[in-house]
This record gives sequence, C-alpha cells and structure tokens, in this order.
Amino acid sequence: MKALALLGSTGSIGRNVLAVVRQFPERFKVVGLAAGRNVDLLAAQAREFAPECIAIGEPELAAALAAMLPARYQSRIVVGPEGNCQVASLASADMVVSAVVGSAGLLPALAAIRAGKDLGLANKETLVMAGRLVMEAVRAYGVHLLPIDSEHSAIFQALEAGRREDVSRIILTASGGPFRTWDDQALAAAAPNQALAHPNWNMGRKISIDSATLMNKGLEVIEARWLFDVAPEQIEVVVHPQSIVHSLVEYRDGAVLAQLGIPDMRIPIAYALAYPERLDLGLSRLNLTQCGNLAFEQPDHRRFSALRMAYAALAMGGVKPAVLNAANEVAVEAFLAGRIGFTRIAAVVAAALEAVGQGDELDLAAILAADREARIAAERAIGAA
Ligand code: MG
Repeated sequence: MKALALLGSTGSIGRNVLAVVRQFPERFKVVGLAAGRNVDLLAAQAREFAPECIAIGEPELAAALAAMLPARYQSRIVVGPEGNCQVASLASADMVVSAVVGSAGLLPALAAIRAGKDLGLANKETLVMAGRLVMEAVRAYGVHLLPIDSEHSAIFQALEAGRREDVSRIILTASGGPFRTWDDQALAAAAPNQALAHPNWNMGRKISIDSATLMNKGLEVIEARWLFDVAPEQIEVVVHPQSIVHSLVEYRDGAVLAQLGIPDMRIPIAYALAYPERLDLGLSRLNLTQCGNLAFEQPDHRRFSALRMAYAALAMGGVKPAVLNAANEVAVEAFLAGRIGFTRIAAVVAAALEAVGQGDELDLAAILAADREARIAAERAIGAA
C-alpha cells in the first residue's frame, strides 16, 4: 500500500490522481490533501479519502472547510503555504504528488524532497523556476522524481530503452493549441473562451492559455532540460496536432523511440504512481487505423514568440526562467480578466525579461526575489499599454 500526499487535489490533474487512487484502493491510500480555494470539492475529497492532514490555501476559508467536515477532522486542517509544506512532508506519506498550478508549487516540492519523499511532479513551474536547485536536492536526499507532465512521462518511458549517455535528442511534441492556424489579426482579437477551448486535452485555465500561446511548450523545454539533464540545443519541439505521439527520444545510432496513446492524463499519472509497474486502467485503446494521419510540423516562432522566449531565458540562465514564468502568470491572469489582448501576453513577458536582471547568486532567495520583481515589471507593462 503506497501512501500519497496530494497537492493541488481539486484541479484537473488532482482529480485525475484521485480517480486512479479510487480505481486501485488496494494499492494506494491518501494521507494528505492540499488545495487552493475550492473548499466544497476539498471537503468532499476529505470525506471520501479520510486523510490525516488537509491544507487549504486561503486561511480565511479554513472555517468554511471545517464547517463541512465532521468534528474529528478539525485538528487536521492546516492553512496557507506552510500548510501545503506540512502536507508535503507528512511522516506517513511514501510519495508526494504535486499538481499545484504555478509558482506556488516550488516550496512544497522542495519540502517534500527534503523530507525524503518520492515526488510525482505535474507542476512544471517547480523545475522552470529552480531546476538546478531542485535536481541537486533530489540527488542529495536520494529521492525519485517521476514526471507526470504527459510529454515528460513519454520521454521518461522512452529513456527506459537505452542509456542516458547514448541520447542525442529529446523531441517534445506540442498540439499547437486552438490557434495553430490563426493569422495575426485573428490572434490579436482572440477571446479567453476561445483560448480555453483546447482541441485535444481537457485542462485547467492557466495551462490552456499557456497551450494557446505555446508558452506551455516553452516551460516544458526548460522542465526537460533539468529533468533529463540534456543541453537546451538537444531539445526540439515539433507541432503534432493530433496529440497521439506524446514525445520522442532519439539515440545516437539514429533510433527514435516514441510513446503513443490516447490523450488521457490518467496514463502518465498511473505510470508515476505505480512505477515501474503498469496498471490496467480500463481505458479505451489507441486504434491506429482510426486515428487518421499523424502530422508533424515546425512551430511558428513568429506568431508564437513565447516558445522562442523560453529558449532565450534558458540560455540566459540565472533567474531568467523564473522571471519568464512569473511574468507569464501575471499576463495570463490579465488576459483571462480581459485586461489585455491575447498577443499582449508575450509582449508583457518580453518586457519583464528585459526589466529584471539575471542575478549573480542562484539560490532560493534570489529566485523568489526575481519572481516578485518580475510580477511588478509585468504589472507595469500591463498598465503602460
Ligand atoms: Mg504537457
């Protein structure tokens, strides 16, 4: 029986993690749950899975959560970022799954590693912001880091077929998002509900917008760089609108290994939870003769400059990837709130990358300070429009 602490339990990935747990009650149990603000769903999950610790992100929502749970749960409720870290370092947990959205995932992920927990990571921002520090901690504490991002799970699986020193290239596939074929004029007028309508994957709001700008792929390039210890120039992005080939690894003899499947997050989630075993999830199977032609094309760096900016931030190094990430979070919020147009998202990120230096020290304090500065710079760019 593997005991799990789940961070971000009410989001799209979190709910899929619990669906897998529900399907295999003899294998997994939930000892900790943490969520941001969705008290109703968190309370329902707590009643179903009876964890020993429950964290709610917003302290003012703790009373509402308590009111929805039996009296014996009252002492198990913790709040805020510290509450998240408490759940991440629960003594009884064998594995922590981080499905937190955005930069809020960094500190609990580090807390989990430092508590000696294996980490199932869906929160790519953890590695975007602090990839070097996180991977050093993974090695220092001797824990396993298992990717849940579908592309990185695919790469992780393809890497099982060979030796790391024989890898020549990592090829990340991108669906291209809902605006893949849109022209400049249409992009400038794109509305949030159009950006949220992803063609293949059913995802949360933040990641859906990131998929529409291709920033999601940019963040995934940075994530792959740290996760698999490959040089940025070894990572290539290919647009593959059908989302059937989830990513590929090329070895030095020219052999290319890909992982394919229907686009369902329960597959990479279950792989991380049960690794190295594979579970029968009872999902519909990929039917190659019915999925039609699989297409692959170059990403358009001109219309979707976010991807290029991510490569540039990675090349600049230091705190620049953290700046990219923080500015993007602010810009995406502003777009969803109707404050800026779709094409302004990339412009706001570019302005923040320009405004915030790359720093000399790369420690946690410098990364968190850069995150704060980038948010201020992004707000300034939004206001100046
Ligand atoms: Mg992904």
